[in-house]
Amino acid sequence: MASIKDYKIATLGSHSALQILKGAHDEGFETICICRKGYRKPYESFKVADEIIEIEHFHDFFEIEDQLIKKNAILIPHGSFVAYIGPEKVKDIKVMHYGTRGILEHESDREKARKWLEKAKCKTPKIFKKPEEIDRPVIIKFHGAKGGKGYFIANSPEDFYDSIKDFPEDEKYVIQEYIVGVPMYTHYFYSRVTEELEVMSFDKRYESNADSIGRIAARDQLDANIKTSYTITGNMPMVIRESILPEVFEMGENIIKVSKELVGDGLFGPFCLEAIVDPNLNFYVFEISARIVAGTNPYVDGSPYTWLRYDVPMSTGRRIALDIKMAIEQDCLEKVLG
Ligand code: AMP
Ligand code: AMP
Repeated sequence: MASIKDYKIATLGSHSALQILKGAHDEGFETICICRKGYRKPYESFKVADEIIEIEHFHDFFEIEDQLIKKNAILIPHGSFVAYIGPEKVKDIKVMHYGTRGILEHESDREKARKWLEKAKCKTPKIFKKPEEIDRPVIIKFHGAKGGKGYFIANSPEDFYDSIKDFPEDEKYVIQEYIVGVPMYTHYFYSRVTEELEVMSFDKRYESNADSIGRIAARDQLDANIKTSYTITGNMPMVIRESILPEVFEMGENIIKVSKELVGDGLFGPFCLEAIVDPNLNFYVFEISARIVAGTNPYVDGSPYTWLRYDVPMSTGRRIALDIKMAIEQDCLEKVLG
């Protein structure tokens, strides 16, 4: 029978690698961390990597891919794969890797992601096709924007044209209704081995400078001529009102159902719905991540929700390793490989 000793778990050193590698160790796998030069320290210090492979830049990943294949490594993609290697190149990965092949295209293309969410009956913020249609607060998101830097808010067409002057003309953007509410990001896990959807945890992000503007009086905000940005710097753990949980499960289940119409056998593994919840408890989902999100990082030793279900501290990283382990032991590894 195949054993987990025949395989290693590998990932890129950034984003949620500490959690992924620690989780793999906890399930009994040996681990490999692929690091950029100068970034190995955390992976050594926290003792999560049995082996570190250094590369100059993440886009040099394909130069070391053969080494991973020889070691029978299973690669776990995360946000840095999408950001630095690109969703289209992820499709070219030859080494065994966890997750649905082709799904990352649907999360990184705003149009495709929106169609997915709408088909799954998630409420989404309204999109304005032309600046002239702006009749309420909107957020303008540039396609290339990384981590919410360079977004701006407008209230009217005039306001829009006044602010857009600061950006290069050819830059593509979307005009989205600005939802006044609180951000709530739900971390799900769907296993193709157990065919069950789990709610793993929730987070809210800590964004600079949006999360600090309220520290100064409105008058001072105007004096300082602040431009709001949403650069992600970290994540905070959260639990939600228990009466909302049934809806949270339903949203996740609909996403999985619709994913089966989009790609092959559909989405599996960790995914996240990023929503703003308004005062009427409506979830406005503005983004979907079809892979582990860094918002799961506060839960290296499990979340209140995983504690209800598991008798060991179960992080999302560890849940991935457990899925792979179950697939190996049940001789159905192909179910979890992209
Ligand atoms: P990094 O490797 O830290 O540059 O992150 C790669 C991508 O993941 C970037 O596009 C970030 O915006 C996103 N990201 C990194 N860390 C977090 C986090 N803690 N929460 C949400 N997104 C993140
Ligand atoms: P994104 O780059 O799409 O993840 O958005 C970055 C941040 O902007 C989010 O974490 C929210 O704080 C905020 N945001 C994005 N879209 C909306 C929206 N439609 N309404 C209100 N806030 C939003």
